[in-house]
Amino acid sequence: MKIAKDTLSFILETSKSSAPREFAGMLSATRDVITEVVIVPGTESSEESAVMQLFMLPNIHTVGTVHSHPSANRRPSTEDLELFDRKGNYHIIVGAPYDMSSWTCYNNKGEPISLEVIDYEFAEDENW
Ligand code: ZN
Repeated sequence: MKIAKDTLSFILETSKSSAPREFAGMLSATRDVITEVVIVPGTESSEESAVMQLFMLPNIHTVGTVHSHPSANRRPSTEDLELFDRKGNYHIIVGAPYDMSSWTCYNNKGEPISLEVIDYEFAEDENW
């Protein structure tokens, strides 16, 4: 699995602008590239409620989840691990300071996995 650089940038920027509130969303992919984030509305400011918002979503087609932590600690919590096990196989946790090196992708067991960042041409870009 890979992730579009623009999508990752969007995640990092949204995490940064939401801080200290947490940001949470679902990840959608086009073939083997994560290209879309569906933001969970009304994400509350505590770790537990950000995760609860994700739990309560219907099972729309998703490859995984993304949420931010208000600190530099990107280890999944117990609640995170339960979520990972139920909502797809790719789970990104973003931590402070929300730059290109402050995110980690985990599998549904909570083990860190690599996610290749690629330049992806979105369909909208074809009109240039
Ligand atoms: Zn968490």
